[in-house]
Amino acid sequence: MNNNLQFHPETLSVRAGSESTPYGENSEAMFLNSSFRFESAAQAAARFGGTEPGNIYSRFTNPTVTMFQNKLAALEGAEQCVATSSGMSAILACVMGLCSAGDHIVASRSIFGTSVQLFGNILKRWGLDVTFVSLTDASEWQAAATAKTKLFFVETPSNPLTEVCDIRLLADIAHQAGAHLVVDNCFCTPAIQRPLALGADIVIHSATKYIDGQGRCLGGAVLGSKVLMEPVYAFLRTAGVTMSAFNAWVFLKGLETLHVRMEAHARNALALATWLESQPQVSRVHYPGLKSHPQHALAMSQQLSGAGIVTFEVKSSAGKTAQESAWALIDSTQLISITANLGDAKSTITHPATTTHSRVTAEARAAAGISDGLVRIAVGLEHIEDLKADLALLTR
Ligand SMILES: *Cc1c(COP(=O)(O)O)cnc(C)c1O
Repeated sequence: MNNNLQFHPETLSVRAGSESTPYGENSEAMFLNSSFRFESAAQAAARFGGTEPGNIYSRFTNPTVTMFQNKLAALEGAEQCVATSSGMSAILACVMGLCSAGDHIVASRSIFGTSVQLFGNILKRWGLDVTFVSLTDASEWQAAATAKTKLFFVETPSNPLTEVCDIRLLADIAHQAGAHLVVDNCFCTPAIQRPLALGADIVIHSATKYIDGQGRCLGGAVLGSKVLMEPVYAFLRTAGVTMSAFNAWVFLKGLETLHVRMEAHARNALALATWLESQPQVSRVHYPGLKSHPQHALAMSQQLSGAGIVTFEVKSSAGKTAQESAWALIDSTQLISITANLGDAKSTITHPATTTHSRVTAEARAAAGISDGLVRIAVGLEHIEDLKADLALLTR
């Protein structure tokens, strides 16, 4: 069975992309081999020449990786998926495949810190021009686009403030400018949001997060039309930012349970966000599933739920600065893991200003609304009452 869209998304999660060998295994096989044998010199020549389809070498394609790609493509409604060694290499492959020196990218200011470094620092040295604009102000995107603009790049909801952009509107602006809209769909996954159906051209994933779901492996993916993915794949097979077959197998298993996990993450996150809103030591909660979120209506028109990330401001109290109060809360937890990863069954807690966003200047942090009292929780699958109890410091 392949990318058969007659099925519901939950069924695609479990079944799409699966292939089996003559042994008839019911769980996908892990192909841990670097190269593939040919029946003859003529067949080798045909494979290398591209006149006969089939595997050659695992830097190019591997059956386990192909199954992962086909499953994720079915879930995102994409013609093609290119799996990569990490989320960052997915972004790199996307840009290297679709841009050249002298080209221009418009990117949201509220993207993953390492993505800011990649665009604004490394790729800039290679002649790529990048303009950072507000995620939520469409007029800034319109004004920033030039004749050289190839890509618009967003994350929605954003990290850590869960701001949301109008995907359809930004896609229209990108297309009028002759550019493509790229959406990093890491926070939602296709179980909650399908950007291509909303007009985006390319979807990026860090499979490391919810696609794995249990914090085991690094991986990524780029998805879109065959035409757009061809140069992305050409870069990957040459540069070697390939996903390992072992990791692809882990992600295949992760995708089978994606829908039930994302529902559970979102249910816990909404319950925690609602509870946080009524705690005396919390001044503000950022969660798209809350009615108090400034873009709640837009978020709910694009997303099936608010997803799993909740961010909130801890009040400075008892002679402590905001940072000291936030750190005291983080250090008081017994259950929740102090780590910046997200998408794990285990809830994680982090202080963005001194970790994920510490390389951003204090002024840029302030402009982005990342205050010293801000705490981010990637809500896991533990019982909600145990998570609340672990944050008891907020109730005092
Ligand atoms: C983690 C993350 C990435 C980078 O993914 P890696 O797998 O760590 O390379 C990119 N975008 C977002 C939104 C992320 O959370």
